[in-house]
Amino acid sequence: MKEDDALLPVEEARARTLALVSPLPQEWVRMEEALGRALAVDVRAQRTLPPWDNSAMDGFAVRSADLTAPPPIRLQVRETIYAGQMPREEVRPGTCARIMTGAPMPAGADAVVMRERTRLAPGGETVEILEAVGPGNFVRPRGEDAREGEVLLARGTPLGIPELGLLVGQGMLTVPVPRRPRVAILSTGDELCRADAPAEGRIVDANAPALSLAVLRAGGVPSVLGIARDTLEDVYQHLAAAEGYDLVLTSAGMSVGEHDFVREALAKLGVERDFWRVAIKPGKPLAVGRKGSTAYVGLPGNPTSSLVTFELFVRPALRRMLGHSDVEPPRVGGRLAGALQKPPGLAHYVRVTAAWQEGELWARPLSTQTSGVLRSAASATHLLHFPREASRLANGDNVELLPLSWGA
Ligand code: AMP
Ligand code: MG
Repeated sequence: MKEDDALLPVEEARARTLALVSPLPQEWVRMEEALGRALAVDVRAQRTLPPWDNSAMDGFAVRSADLTAPPPIRLQVRETIYAGQMPREEVRPGTCARIMTGAPMPAGADAVVMRERTRLAPGGETVEILEAVGPGNFVRPRGEDAREGEVLLARGTPLGIPELGLLVGQGMLTVPVPRRPRVAILSTGDELCRADAPAEGRIVDANAPALSLAVLRAGGVPSVLGIARDTLEDVYQHLAAAEGYDLVLTSAGMSVGEHDFVREALAKLGVERDFWRVAIKPGKPLAVGRKGSTAYVGLPGNPTSSLVTFELFVRPALRRMLGHSDVEPPRVGGRLAGALQKPPGLAHYVRVTAAWQEGELWARPLSTQTSGVLRSAASATHLLHFPREASRLANGDNVELLPLSWGA
């Protein structure tokens, strides 16, 4: 067997796929568009937030040194400070200020006693403090959220709702993120027809619509290139017509059958192939390469195989293009409900439905595992990783599960 034909371990195939792509140039987008994407640059704080020490409670701003005698301790109330107001005077020994949550701490005060631990005299001129507190009690320090000049969020940080809130707090109404990858999708096969033009003796192209949705969900912009017939010329023509994409996905025509022309067409186009076989089931034939600034991934034809390989290789690549620092598929630990067997040699990714039971995630393999039918993917919640060299997994074994992004 030539080195080129060796079956790559999944991890190595993913690492080599990731090495072919990099974060795309940045664009500035509004918050709604930024949600779920990753920051293109380090963002430094322009403002110190909160801008002043402030109260974390409704209560009384006091000098903690005044509270050394046994409670109750009577203090004179000098003013009331509401959120949105600035204190008018300094808190001097024997005095305090009524203060509301979020209001700036007055000078002289170093702690807040919550209202529930006080007794305000009728008229409100004095208060009895019923609890001694130390310095800093219920005070939110200046700069707790952000200090001017510090890196607030690092490049590659995914922008969830709190992160975007932090950026808005800094006055940023748009944020820099890598632009969305443009992804072309080509189906190949003489047996295929379009869903809107069903034909006698043909099967509907299921891969292009499924892959389009997978690309959309991964944050890319899909374009369907149509269906190429099983000739070198037609596959080549379709690929040659696809220009300006960041990623081109093909499905089917990848094996060594007489009518499998995708690899040859990619070579004719000048795509430098990195590898094409992975020690994995489903999805063994998978071709990955690059030409100029476009990456090419030839996915297997079986609808479920193409979705599984999308999860394991394409989605991580799209995440890298989108600038995420964490691109590996997510994993969780679970237990196998059932038993599995296979010969060693290929890592299997078994479609399972996983559910919590008594504090653990139990994964039940779907009864259909044939990759030719989408049924074996419908209702799967996770892929169970059955390691390459393992040959049996027993009921109750600890297993690695990949939560699927394709489900509802
Ligand atoms: P191939 O890799 O070309 O041998 O295709 C493998 C299997 O996947 C065959 O049964 C094909 O009919 C099927 N297949 C290939 N492409 C598609 C597609 N776009 N939609 C549905 N099934 C497909
Ligand atoms: Mg085919």
